[in-house]
Amino acid sequence: MQYRTVPKNGDKLSALGFGCMRLPMKGQVVDEERAIKQIRLAIDNGVNYVDSAPPYHMGESEKVLGKALLDGYRGKVKVATKLTPFMLHKPEDMEKMLALQLQKLQTDHIDYYLLHGLEAEFWKKMQTFGALKFLKKAQADGKIVNMGFSFHGSIGVFKEIIDANDWTMCQIQYNFLDEKLQAGTEGLKYAASKKLAVMVMEPLRGGSLANRLPKEAQQIYDNAPVKRSAAEWGLRWVWNHPEVTLVLSGMNDECQVTENIKTAETALPNSMKPAELTVIKNVANAYRKLLKVPCTGCQYCMPCPNGVNIPRNFQAYNDMYISGDEQQARGMYTMFLMGGLTGVRADAALCKECGTCVVRCPQQINIPQKLKEVAKDLGGAKAEAALAAFKASMAKQPPKKP
Ligand code: SF4
Ligand code: SF4
Repeated sequence: MQYRTVPKNGDKLSALGFGCMRLPMKGQVVDEERAIKQIRLAIDNGVNYVDSAPPYHMGESEKVLGKALLDGYRGKVKVATKLTPFMLHKPEDMEKMLALQLQKLQTDHIDYYLLHGLEAEFWKKMQTFGALKFLKKAQADGKIVNMGFSFHGSIGVFKEIIDANDWTMCQIQYNFLDEKLQAGTEGLKYAASKKLAVMVMEPLRGGSLANRLPKEAQQIYDNAPVKRSAAEWGLRWVWNHPEVTLVLSGMNDECQVTENIKTAETALPNSMKPAELTVIKNVANAYRKLLKVPCTGCQYCMPCPNGVNIPRNFQAYNDMYISGDEQQARGMYTMFLMGGLTGVRADAALCKECGTCVVRCPQQINIPQKLKEVAKDLGGAKAEAALAAFKASMAKQPPKKP
């Protein structure tokens, strides 16, 4: 296994981390036996970082991870989990959530504790709740060791958060299609320049860069100078960046675990040759042809006086056509844009066609027209129903007393 060093504490972490967001399922529930087997298989082969969060698998992920780390496995890994803003209703809930996590994970401390999924609204909420003070106290009490945050917002907010605290690490979405989305390459380099370890999530964009490839992308891989699976190409591209500390892969199949471990051994920083990088560039272009809106996520059109998060709407719309997964796209749309998680709506249906944004867009996108298409494809009655179902499921799982 290849190990990379966390600049602020010297931890040597495996380049591959085990993400417990997509554990194997048996019907509607996690297949515990198989999940434990896979987590231990990864640890036995050198993985020493495991990541979870309260909402993963409706609260079951941390519990299963806790069981997987019995029998001496806890001492072999650094455990990461998160404080999830949308599950917190008042500041006291932070303490309750952490206590419950320690209980579920069957441990007395969490090695890497992250504010979860920050963007502008959640960052504001966490500041109002006094989250930084809470984290520092938890650190002083020995309940957590390192502070970090995971991120899904825009680059400006990302830099603001980095500068606001002495974080050890951050976790960002990063892959060869998202160089300019969210934190992107600029954020990766900024975090590394501030000596933060950078953990990468969604290296394969939820699997859409590894499965059901567009025909043209598959042909480019087939003609490449080296034969690799699409997953291996995608992961190698992320590991090629020296600023990346580790890559989290949500593995749920034994073969996947073995293949990713094998790739991690040789995917060193700056190890890809120019011809290999050209392959990736061409594949990325093949994916980009599927995009419905040529939005680069530059944010010049923002803010919208009516609250529409324009780039995020276009991102969700494009994601649907890249992944081909309408259900997942609608789920993300209702959670992030229709106010499922933040309570603040920012979806395409809010557009009043005032035209303020149009003149600011360097891509000359007819933004109001495209937003109408987004609202028609992703919004509507199905989305309203999905939002109601999501809110009902969340109401059933507030932070419970340990
Ligand atoms: S046209 Fe629509 S999206 Fe653009 S600024 Fe006006 S309301 Fe906002
Ligand atoms: S200005 Fe244009 S390209 Fe930039 S984020 Fe807005 S819509 Fe996208």
